[in-house]
Amino acid sequence: LRSSFSLATSATDRNEASAAMEQTFIMIKPDGVQRGLVCSPFPSPLISSSFASFIHSSALHCVKILPTTILFLFSPSTLEKKGEIFLVIFVRRSGLKLVGVERSFAEKHYADLSAKPFFGSLVEYIISGPVVAMVWTGKNVVVTGRKIIGATNPAESAPGTIRGDYAIEIGRNVIHGSDSVESARKEIALWFPEGISEWQSNLHPWIYE
Ligand code: ADP
Repeated sequence: LRSSFSLATSATDRNEASAAMEQTFIMIKPDGVQRGLVCSPFPSPLISSSFASFIHSSALHCVKILPTTILFLFSPSTLEKKGEIFLVIFVRRSGLKLVGVERSFAEKHYADLSAKPFFGSLVEYIISGPVVAMVWTGKNVVVTGRKIIGATNPAESAPGTIRGDYAIEIGRNVIHGSDSVESARKEIALWFPEGISEWQSNLHPWIYE
């Protein structure tokens, strides 16, 4: 019987894999934060047992990232299924932060929608409380992120998506995700002018070919 196994990839393979990586900007909106859908790293009934043990092992790390001890908790199993996306949520330092948004900043983020009749209420909504800003990294992560988030209007979001599971109103749809690679680039530059920490999980070769 074979007793030794390895899925190590060569440096060249790894470089090719990273070349195909995308980044996307994900934000938990104020309603998601206020509703406790972004939670502390302490065990909660909402957390699956495997996730809770992971949180335990990450607790110190998370406290370092966020003084408020906030940790991302949307649909852990959904995110676990997507492998590295889940891990990247724990990206160090500036890849994840809790911030209050100024009006002018919110107007800049949603500048493309400035002519829409709901622009004013959208800006009020986004500045109404702190948000959790994140960068996710992965293959096709822009499209994958949008799939996990679901349709803009929760009434049309499929069950199993974040908006489908957690939201009812279009103006309270709990989460934002970049809609294209180009807008992701702009949004990451806007929200993380300090840059983000690049790192790669050791699970990489188990998730990516
Ligand atoms: P998405 O967030 O899915 O990319 P859009 O960029 O079109 O969608 O809209 C940005 C945000 O504006 C939506 O997430 C939602 O909060 C809000 N919004 C969009 N359409 C409406 C609407 N018709 N009425 C009120 N708010 C809306």
